[in-house]
Order: sequence, then structure tokens, then C-alpha cells
Amino acid sequence: MISFKNKYDAIVIGGGPAGSSTAALLAEKGHDVLIVEKEKFPRYHVGESLMPFCYFPLERLGLVDTLMESANPRKYCVQFVRQDGFLSQPFYFFQHFDHPSSTTWQVWRSEFDQMIMEKAREYGATVMEETKAKTLLKSSENKVKGVKVVSKDLGELELRAPIVVDASGRDCFSAHKENWKVRDPELNKIALWTYYKNAKRDPGLDEGATTVAYLPDKGWFWYIPLSGDMVSVGIVAERDYLFDGSTKDHAEIFQREVQNNQWIKEHLAEGEQTGEYRTTGEYSYRNKYCSIDGLVLAGDALGFLDPVFSSGVFLALKSGVMLADEIDLALQTGDPVTSSSFENYGKRMQSSIETMRKIVYAFYDKEFSFGDLVKRGDHLRSALTDCLVGNVDDQDFRELFDAMSDLADLPEPIEHGLAHASS
Ligand SMILES: Cc1cc2nc3c(=O)[nH]c(=O)nc-3n(C[C@H](O)[C@H](O)[C@H](O)COP(=O)(O)OP(=O)(O)OC[C@H]3O[C@@H](n4cnc5c(N)ncnc54)[C@H](O)[C@@H]3O)c2cc1C
Repeated sequence: MISFKNKYDAIVIGGGPAGSSTAALLAEKGHDVLIVEKEKFPRYHVGESLMPFCYFPLERLGLVDTLMESANPRKYCVQFVRQDGFLSQPFYFFQHFDHPSSTTWQVWRSEFDQMIMEKAREYGATVMEETKAKTLLKSSENKVKGVKVVSKDLGELELRAPIVVDASGRDCFSAHKENWKVRDPELNKIALWTYYKNAKRDPGLDEGATTVAYLPDKGWFWYIPLSGDMVSVGIVAERDYLFDGSTKDHAEIFQREVQNNQWIKEHLAEGEQTGEYRTTGEYSYRNKYCSIDGLVLAGDALGFLDPVFSSGVFLALKSGVMLADEIDLALQTGDPVTSSSFENYGKRMQSSIETMRKIVYAFYDKEFSFGDLVKRGDHLRSALTDCLVGNVDDQDFRELFDAMSDLADLPEPIEHGLAHASS
């Protein structure tokens, strides 16, 4: 049975990429960290396609060699396919920059997430699995002091720390408690997905590519080759398009849509569907604040953006690395950790998410095509590829977004998601 204490330097809710990376890097710096995770790992998770710039957080975590030696398919590019099956010129990341980070991986998230959690353990973090956060413990001034959890083995416990990191993913533990959840006004899609064995793979460098294949009304399929001759394949579309009243059966809807894209139809014809059909709704959102005194939000617990450009794991790892550094600094002062420690974090996350969000909006604009954009100049192709790989820090994308706004309606920035003023 796991031994635990009532007080830690930091408590992290959720052991996904955001939580485990924060915990690992804080523990590496010598802090006493606890992860509470409601599931028993390895656990299933959707979201298998990484972005190239995951390389840098993974390098900080000392995990690049493990991935280099793994059987995970290498992802050299992302490619876009029209409904009639026409494949546009893939975006090869290595043509844009010559660095090992230009190649990334398609991963089983059960294995990938466990690998990061094991790194947290190796660096000295305590992990309590099958332990669910139930309530934030607060002082009379609304400062977070810890968290009440229910553990399968130990029952109800009150755990305290100067800082609680909420990395509970799309469960949005704190945002639900605090009523902070705000949906993105336009990106209200749902996803329906499953897995295929022995489906077709493209030859050569494109074998591990992520393919985005269009459906009517700007819906799309993802096609992500995984190890073990498996493929993750899913649809993202408007609810009313998928559930048009003809049937509610997920398998029937999925198979109906397979007929709507020639490339997907051909690639799946050779394979065999396995396991269940899964769905999720409640799509893109950003929560009102990234922090209050004693509490900070990471990864999907802060915000979620439509996964068309595979930005989720990258943003989760990026938030984990940034938070470990900010929390380390804050703990060194010996003072209570206030929301003001996370002002820079909130601004940088907001800027990265807003950059990706503009490209997601353009993607869904009926008038927009990436082909039309990149025809306007190589500098635009280059700036777009920076966004697609995750190279979004300290970049000036004004030319790209000016050109895009001629072709698509780009969104006004969402102002919330920053640190709440300290009380
Ligand atoms: C349909 C779909 C497709 C996607 N495709 C991609 C993709 O191809 N590439 C990509 O990069 N991203 C993709 N994403 C997004 C990606 O899955 C997430 O962005 C990523 O998992 C975020 O990591 P996280 O650590 O914030 O949250 P998670 O990975 O969700 O981890 C959160 C953890 O918190 C635990 N938890 C929740 N509540 C509690 C609680 N109360 N107490 C204790 N533990 C708790 C959960 O069990 C979980 O293990 C996709 C998402 C969706 C919905």
C-alpha cells in the first residue's frame, strides 16, 4: 500500500501529460510532489498524434531516447486529402527546419502517458492512483490550501500544499467547481472514432503521416497509423451533420461517412475494425482563469482546442514545463504561492492557444484552403509550417494572419484564461 503524507510542496490532480510533466520536473528540482490520479495506469486516452515541438519538453524530461528507440511510427508530415481522394502536397517538417525535432511520433497514449508518469516517480514524486480529487480545500479568503480526495485503498483524505496544480484534463475539475468553463463560440464539434487493424499505410516517408481527410461541410477524418499495425481513425464534425436523424447507431454513422471520402474508403477497405466506437462532445473551451491563489490550471484543464492540428499534447507538455519552472521559483521564496506567480504563464499559454486557434478557425471556414494560402508565397508556407510544428513562441505571425484574413474569417482573441488578481 502506498504511504502518503498530509502535506506536500505541490499536489497535482491528474497524471496525464500536463500533470506528470509538471510533477516530474518539480520533483527533479527536489520538491516533494504528489500526483493524485483517478484511474489505474496504463489507461486508455484518445489523442495519439504528437506535434514536432513536443520534442523540447520531452527532451527536458529525458524521454527522447526512449521514444527514438520505440516502435512508434515516425511522423514526418501532415497531409490533407479532398473528398474525391486527391492528396495535396504533404507538409514535411524536415523541409522547414533541420533538427531532430522535425520528426515526431504517433503514440499509444496509454504507453506514452505512463512513460511520463514513471519519469515523475523516478524523480521522486509520489503517485496515488485510483484516487479522485473531490473538493478544493480553501481558506476563508478563498485561497486554495489543498484538496480532499477519495482513494480506493485509503478512503477520504485531506491533503495540503502551498500549490495545487489542476491537470484533470477535459474533466475540468476546478473549472466546474468554480463555474469557469466557457465554450468557444464557434468550435462546437463532436468526434466519433474507432481503431482498425491492418488498414493500408502509405509508402516510404508517408507511412506514419497524420492524414486529415475532408468530409462535407468541413467535417474531417483523422487517420493516425500506430504500432502493432493499428490505425486510429475518427471523424470530427457538427453534431447535426453526424446525427442527422437517419440513425443514432455509431457504427452505422461511421461507416456511412467512410463512403464520403475516397481515400479513407480505400485505406480502410484492407483493414478490420476492432473494438468500440467512441464519442465526445463539449468541444473547444477556455476557462475564465488560469490561476487563483494556491491553484493553477494546466493542459486541457485550462482550455481545449479542436484537435485538427494535434496541438493538445504539445500544449499540455508545454504548460507542464512552464509551470514546473514558475512553481519552483515561487516555492523558493518561502511565501505562500499566489496567483501573481502565474501571470507570465497565463499570457504565454494564451498567446500559443490564440495562434493555433486562428488556424483552426481558418480550417473550418468554407471559403478557405491551405493551397490558396501557400500559393501566395513561400514565406507564408514557412510561417504556417511553424504553427503546424508548434514553433509558436515569440514569433511574429502578422503577415501570415493578414494573408489568412483575406481568405477566411479569423476570430477575435478570447481575453480570459489569465491569472486572477491575487486576493
Ligand atoms: C477526439 C480527440 C482527439 C484528439 N487528438 C489529439 C491528437 O491527435 N494529438 C494531440 O496532441 N492531442 C489530441 N487531443 C487532445 C489531447 O488528448 C489532450 O489535449 C491531452 O490529453 C491533454 O493532456 P492533459 O494532461 O491536460 O489531460 P489528460 O491527458 O486528459 O489527463 C488528465 C488526467 O486527469 C485524470 N483526472 C481527471 N479528473 C480527476 C480527478 N477529479 N481526480 C484525479 N484525477 C483526475 C484523468 O483520469 C486523466 O488521467 C485529442 C482530443 C480529443 C477529444
